[in-house]
Amino acid sequence: MSGNESRLKAIYEITNTAPIEAKMTEPLNKIWASDVFGLRQMEESLSKAAFKAIKKTVETGAELDSATADVVAAAMKDWAMSKGAKFFSHIFYPMTNATAEKHDGFIVTNSDGAAITEFTGSLLIKGEPDGSSFPNGSLRMTNAARGYTAWDPTSPAYIMHTANGAVLTIPSVFISWTGEALDKKIPLLRSNAAMNAAAQKVLSLMGETDIATLNSSCGAEQEYFLIDENFANARPDLLLTGRTLFGAPSPKGQQFDDHYFGAIPERVQVFMQDFEDKLYRLGIPAKTHHNEVAPGQFEIAPYFESANIAADHQQLLMTVLKNTAKKHGFLCLLHEKPFAGVNGSGKHVNWSVGNSTQGNLLDPGNTPNENLDFLLFCGAVIRGVHKFGPLLRAVIATASNDHRLGANEAPPAILSVYLGDQLEKVFNDIKTGALHVPSDGGTMDLGLSQILKFKRDPGDRNRTSPFAFTGNRFEFRAVGSQQSVSGPLIAMNTMLADSLEWIAAKLKAELDGGAETPAAVFAVIKEIMESHGNVVFGGDGYSAEWHKMAAEERGLKNLPTSAEALPVLKSPEVVELFSSTGVLSPVELASRFEVYAEQYVLAIEVEAKLVVEMATTMIYPAAVSYLSTLGSVNAKLINSPADAVTNAANAMMASVDKLTKAIEKEEFNSTEAHLSFLAGDVCGLMLEVRAAADALEGLVPDSVWPLPKYREMLFIK
Ligand code: ADP
Ligand code: MG
Repeated sequence: MSGNESRLKAIYEITNTAPIEAKMTEPLNKIWASDVFGLRQMEESLSKAAFKAIKKTVETGAELDSATADVVAAAMKDWAMSKGAKFFSHIFYPMTNATAEKHDGFIVTNSDGAAITEFTGSLLIKGEPDGSSFPNGSLRMTNAARGYTAWDPTSPAYIMHTANGAVLTIPSVFISWTGEALDKKIPLLRSNAAMNAAAQKVLSLMGETDIATLNSSCGAEQEYFLIDENFANARPDLLLTGRTLFGAPSPKGQQFDDHYFGAIPERVQVFMQDFEDKLYRLGIPAKTHHNEVAPGQFEIAPYFESANIAADHQQLLMTVLKNTAKKHGFLCLLHEKPFAGVNGSGKHVNWSVGNSTQGNLLDPGNTPNENLDFLLFCGAVIRGVHKFGPLLRAVIATASNDHRLGANEAPPAILSVYLGDQLEKVFNDIKTGALHVPSDGGTMDLGLSQILKFKRDPGDRNRTSPFAFTGNRFEFRAVGSQQSVSGPLIAMNTMLADSLEWIAAKLKAELDGGAETPAAVFAVIKEIMESHGNVVFGGDGYSAEWHKMAAEERGLKNLPTSAEALPVLKSPEVVELFSSTGVLSPVELASRFEVYAEQYVLAIEVEAKLVVEMATTMIYPAAVSYLSTLGSVNAKLINSPADAVTNAANAMMASVDKLTKAIEKEEFNSTEAHLSFLAGDVCGLMLEVRAAADALEGLVPDSVWPLPKYREMLFIK
């Protein structure tokens, strides 16, 4: 089938297929977490003693003895088999944004050749995938490629249903034989532990005596595009890279703002219901869904959970999202910028820290004591973002997210903190001494009422800030839509741990010097604001003035591309941050830089090669075949299109030649040099080819254009 035939066939198919019928679903209480082996299922199937032991592990991370592990394994197997599972899988999260799994059967044969099933504690605790093909950033040589997966009992196992049956899926960590983290879960757990240890110190100094383990929490808002798969199948760029490498803007885009929160197309509603039903069965609390700004763009936000579970659920959500979309005839695009000229997709990571005794420490609260705690924790975040803004930029640095950051739709690549008017005033007043510590030691006047007011009425929202306080949490809005949330959570927890350690030392010095608690807290906050207050910004983050002010007056870094951001992972401050907190050793961190850099290189190289191929084998032939049909008519036309088409086609092929040569360059002095060559020269040439190709799209007749157009793909029937 020639290029334009497949496009026309796609249009025909879409016009003539009936959407899948909506079906009645079962009530929530019947399906909620029905495929999860959680505490409730364990209580039903375990002895009292075994249940008590596993519950303690789940709730506090306490060690589990092997006898209990055996009992849990047996119960888990029986439960899974009753649900039809014949296989189990340790699921893990390698350093790429992927989810990885290897399936093993419960089956063993006995001496009579009969099949029996077996699943012991040791099989549950440890798996040994041949993980040698996962990128490991030189942490393992392939001849010493042994890697282990180990059960994380704090994240519940579940049944994954696929066309190939049901699989018992066990959330796991992934480590090398030498004990180095090869995944995103280990540092996430370690970062939480570091944050907890530092927070305990601060809270004890604040006079708290009963302090439960602190946990970070995460609520991730996931944006995505749905494209009819008939169109997607006619676009090699969407299939291979997740974004359109070519495509002229649609005459109607998002300029009417009629898609944001608009009525959801029926076909999408049917898909969403099916999708959310599956999430509920997996114990993922899908809470809101709506249309997003761009046509064809949607969002799903589950209710927040503890960071470790939320991170596992987020990965699972992305898998279920893509699979369910496929069933409904859609390709789900999680890419940060599938279409030029319309909004891209992000993943807002809502993050807070708290425990069962002190509650959410980022909640301004009603009582003075809570407010002092809040001021310290919020101050810790301000200090962290200021000190480690470039790190926060580095953990969201991917080839695809670069398209979105700093474009006029998403936060800039400059990391600043938005607090809201009232809270910004409280912190600034503490800095200037305008907010007095009352002499009775307990209550604050002006500041408190402001914070209370803040709580009831969070005021305006600042959509242009990459890191915004939103009432009782911070929202990291610059995270990319297809990224794992773990990287950002690790960075946030670790910078918080570092700040809380600093605060504990400072607070202790103040208290030892005889200061009352409120005065000591104010002294700490004052110093934080003097040294780090520059990072607080409530204005328009998209504006040119802010870019100038951030650089010239505030000293904040703007790192627009991954080539500039990724090397931050090698900077001495960041190496020190991760090793002092015990979250990543220097070797583990170095391996991460290598893996992320490699991912960047591969992503750009695939795109560049595909740009060359599509321009040469699809777009150029369309232009040539059109020119050939003009024949003798051409000479008679006053406004002959031939010249314009010829010029654009020649310009495109000239850029294709340059791009081809650029891709062939192999010698680089360093990884950094390679990254900047790709971010600069290669990305620039891809845009050059595209500009000429998109001009051709406006010149070549619709009937011969090979690729589905923006105006066709973006609007769901
Ligand atoms: P918006 O689109 O206005 O930012 P949403 O309701 O779409 O808000 O998403 C807000 C997200 O923040 C949800 O996932 C919600 O559960 C989460 N969230 C609420 N409170 C907290 C908290 N204390 N910690 C972490 N996440 C939270
Ligand atoms: Mg949001």
